[in-house]
Amino acid sequence: MISIQGKGVSTGVAMGPLYFYQRTTSAIRRYQVEDTAAEWDRFKVAQQKAIEQLGQLYDKALAEAGEEAAILFETHQMMCEDDDYVESIENLIKEEKLNAEAAVTDTAEQFAEMFAQMDDTYMQARAADVKDVSGRIVGILTGVVQGGIDSDVPVILAADDLAPSETVQLDKAKILGFVTEGGSGSSHTAILARTMGIPAIIGVGKQLKAEFAGREVIVDGSTGSIVVDADEATRNVMKAKREEQLRQRKLLEQLKGQENVTKDGQKIKVFCNIGNPEDVSMVLANDGGGVGLFRSEFLYLNCDDYPTEDYQFEAYKQVLSDMGDKEVVIRTLDIGADKQIDYFNMPKEENPALGNRALRICLNRPEIFKTQLRALYRASAYGHLGIMFPMVTSVWEVKEAKKMCDIVKKELDAEGKPYSPDVQIGIMIETPAAAVMSDRLAKLVDFFSCGTNDLTQYTLACDRQNNDLGRFFNPHHPAVLRLLKMVCDNAHKNGVWVGICGELGADLALTETFLSIGIDELSVSPRSVLPLRQKIRETNASAVKEKVLADLLSDEVPIE
Ligand code: PEP
Ligand code: MG
Repeated sequence: MISIQGKGVSTGVAMGPLYFYQRTTSAIRRYQVEDTAAEWDRFKVAQQKAIEQLGQLYDKALAEAGEEAAILFETHQMMCEDDDYVESIENLIKEEKLNAEAAVTDTAEQFAEMFAQMDDTYMQARAADVKDVSGRIVGILTGVVQGGIDSDVPVILAADDLAPSETVQLDKAKILGFVTEGGSGSSHTAILARTMGIPAIIGVGKQLKAEFAGREVIVDGSTGSIVVDADEATRNVMKAKREEQLRQRKLLEQLKGQENVTKDGQKIKVFCNIGNPEDVSMVLANDGGGVGLFRSEFLYLNCDDYPTEDYQFEAYKQVLSDMGDKEVVIRTLDIGADKQIDYFNMPKEENPALGNRALRICLNRPEIFKTQLRALYRASAYGHLGIMFPMVTSVWEVKEAKKMCDIVKKELDAEGKPYSPDVQIGIMIETPAAAVMSDRLAKLVDFFSCGTNDLTQYTLACDRQNNDLGRFFNPHHPAVLRLLKMVCDNAHKNGVWVGICGELGADLALTETFLSIGIDELSVSPRSVLPLRQKIRETNASAVKEKVLADLLSDEVPIE
């Protein structure tokens, strides 16, 4: 039995075989071939198989998302057979005697660079396509399933780290738990694990060895412990713990249908954070009162090219329709920093968290912003929508974003396309600048939602991705809590409601603080709804308020 310690970032106990995440981007073997004709045949077989796979993906997308989404796979099929592309591979194999994997990879790089240098943004986006198609062919040649889980049974997935784009594409039905070498608790992979309700442990370093692959491991997401080949006694303890968690969960079930109200009658809304339309089932199953944050960028991360207006419209409409008369806040595209997307072809940045991200990209590339806003407004006819802009720092940004909303509404009017007249406009407060300017910003919007993951990062100058910062990254820091109070006061003075959609919203050690400063809504992962409701219902808000507010103004860190 081998015990390993990491940091638990999503609770729960899971047991299953360990599986190492495979990437096709790992170094491709490069060698000279003798029999170039046989190598060329290898390529032709892989090319045909790729075309077949893309045909199947076309049919799936057509059935699930419509013609516009499916067309991409047809484009990829054509790219597999493109004369110039195939000729380049043929030359490298037959003239240079390169093996097929290296010939495909070199060709992909050369074509991607050529596309990326073109002026036309459509052609620039082809760079990601050619890489994607080539990755598929190389995957077939090497027998590595691209980013997939090649296992018949569900597994505990191990990886050095997982980018959000990788996590989002995984087959969730096959994952019992996550273990990563690196990562941090407020990384998007950890957030996704919590949304999916899957136990996750990060920061195990090099303790997980390749020879553990396929052996049974037990992960405990609340303590961060991992056991490989557990002995009988440990297995029984962990099984009992899992059963206890299930029992607790059942007890919490009794809170379904109950109000989020304190003992002394203060009410607060408890909404959910989601990353894609399928997560709505988790919101409803956990009795979430609405969606307080739909991270729309995950739609973009799931695509190989800019998602079309119709594709986005269908996704937003699905969420709004499934949520019925409950409120749904959809955040406009928030990429950049750790959420990178190839087809955006963004130049590499020294400090991406301080770079061109979120609303900044939308304001600089209005055609992308407009497509999303058109999809959002069209979908608003199907429910109760709030549109929220991320990474705001200045008043002018909000004015410019709202101007784009007006342009979109005028266009839809002219086209006779319906939209709701009651769409709420809000912004995320996740930079100190936005918090400080909240008195002015409140005059422009209907609501604020505090993104405490980024607000902590920017206020404390601590990278949220860096697990080594440990105690320096403290979301309980009074600077963060005082900013939240200031935002609340400024919002309420101007008739604007305030929520928290960062991970701090689910932190039960701060529920009393949030009630005391007057937060109106907490948006949390679906599995956190009932524990939070329990905490709210146990609290006597007026009895604790005076002390909580005094603590906030003291020099002490109120909660370490
Ligand atoms: C936040 O920053 O707190 C937030 C909710 O946004 P994200 O985690 O997606 O950056
Ligand atoms: Mg954020």
